[in-house]
Amino acid sequence: MVVFDKVLKQFGSNVVLDHLDFMVRRGERVALIGPSGSGKTTILRLLMTLEEANEGVIWVDGEPLTHQIKGNKLTKASQSHLRRVRTKIGMVFQQFNLFPNMTVLENITEAQIHVLKRPKSEAVERARELLRTVGLADKENAHPTTLSGGQQQRVAIARALAMDPDILLLDEVTSALDPELVADVLGVLRMIAETTNITMLLVTHEMGFARDVADRVLVFDKGKIVEEGTPEQIFTNPQMNRTRTFLKAVL
Ligand code: ADP
Repeated sequence: MVVFDKVLKQFGSNVVLDHLDFMVRRGERVALIGPSGSGKTTILRLLMTLEEANEGVIWVDGEPLTHQIKGNKLTKASQSHLRRVRTKIGMVFQQFNLFPNMTVLENITEAQIHVLKRPKSEAVERARELLRTVGLADKENAHPTTLSGGQQQRVAIARALAMDPDILLLDEVTSALDPELVADVLGVLRMIAETTNITMLLVTHEMGFARDVADRVLVFDKGKIVEEGTPEQIFTNPQMNRTRTFLKAVL
């Protein structure tokens, strides 16, 4: 579903991803962990085409993300190609990023109507179904600012899922929440992981969440994968010193 093929990303002289190779299978849940600044968020931002790689190719569902194949050459993708590939990917951010001037329901229907061109009635029906899933059926007319952080994050999850993405990217989705609100959000994500086949890439400092949800854990340091394995392997029997040091600091 996702392939990073020798992806180099640098900001000025700062090499953030150092010729990175990895692959995520369809339906797989992969947790990206590692110290702050190791390049995890940049991976998600590249997938959202919010950043562009300096070298290498990122493949999503068999297609190059920012390029098109013409003959046997890769050329820069057109905006319409990018828009189409982007609809396969949903992202939930640390800071929710809801539209403050819209109601909860409008937040969830907006892109369904304007990007997917769904009829409004269908978009509303899907939004209501997802609001029930995230436990906020009674909040459809509320404005985001009147909701708790945990509720806003659950709306953001519903909004991402409303686009029926093949891939869901989760960037530190509980970091901005008060501790007592974290459990609700993680509970919703666990349920989504259990009841759907959506491919997930999650950047998280919540090792319990990574352990519960992930099929595989990639440990990053300085733009490289230093170790990978099942949660069981990584959390109970890490092989690399850098993994042990990191886990000691966060657990
Ligand atoms: P992580 O998610 O692992 O904390 P990031 O991917 O956010 O790491 O950042 C990796 C490195 O890239 C950091 O050194 C950060 O300062 C740098 N970086 C990220 N975004 C930018 C940007 N837009 N401009 C310059 N440097 C950036």
